[in-house]
Amino acid sequence: MHDFNHIYKVLATSILETISPTRCIACDVPGDVLCPSCASSLPFIDLSLACPRCGAPYGRVLCTECPMPGSEEALLHPEEAVPFARARAALSFEGGAKKIIRTYKDGDELRLDAVIASLLCAAIRGRNETNTQGICLIPQVSEPLGDWSQWADALAFVPASPEAVRRRDFDHMERVAMRVATRTGLPLARLLTSERKTRDQRELGRGERFANRNGSFSLAADAAGPIPRRIILIDDVFTTGATLSAASRVLLDGGTEEVRAVTCCRVW
Ligand SMILES: [Zn+2]
Ligand SMILES: [Zn+2]
Repeated sequence: MHDFNHIYKVLATSILETISPTRCIACDVPGDVLCPSCASSLPFIDLSLACPRCGAPYGRVLCTECPMPGSEEALLHPEEAVPFARARAALSFEGGAKKIIRTYKDGDELRLDAVIASLLCAAIRGRNETNTQGICLIPQVSEPLGDWSQWADALAFVPASPEAVRRRDFDHMERVAMRVATRTGLPLARLLTSERKTRDQRELGRGERFANRNGSFSLAADAAGPIPRRIILIDDVFTTGATLSAASRVLLDGGTEEVRAVTCCRVW
């Protein structure tokens, strides 16, 4: 029965491929879901120039995105101080990067989970990484920046809201996290649950995003055993940091010592 299912699946895929061949989501050329040319021209962030705290491109020396501790802005908006210790992102959220995320989340192209996982692995490891098609990702990294997969005890992901899971039939970051866990060898810890209905973050301004996310996550009831001490928390897009902050706070309140946030994209 298992064999029959497998043969059926292979047949169905090849028939589908004949009727409607795979096309690149960015340039529509037949072949791969993301062709080598589009993959190599993605808006990569040079991690050696990025802010180590929030992952903003070019913020290594002076970051305009992180309020300095004690500054007027930090005092005015204490809720916006991010609780995660460091952050990295692979791509600027523009052009092909936007297309990858939107097509994966809302366009039903589930094979992009492998592309997003490759990008996350490159950012986590802080070094060049090839994806399943052998394309070099994060090509600007000239020296190793520190491999966070060696630092972390576990990998966690920001879960989708229950209504988003119902709408899509899957949790988009959970699929990606499973691949990242396999590739990095990190245990996948399903530590967070997304609880109450929140408004779509995409409709909101910066301050509203922080308020909207507060209290929207909690520790999963079935998260057995002690909470891992050092966690890499992954998500698709870092916009204001509100979602990652809310999720990190729950992990830290639960006993985690340090959270590092890694996203596929960074709004910039
Ligand atoms: Zn292409
Ligand atoms: Zn920063």
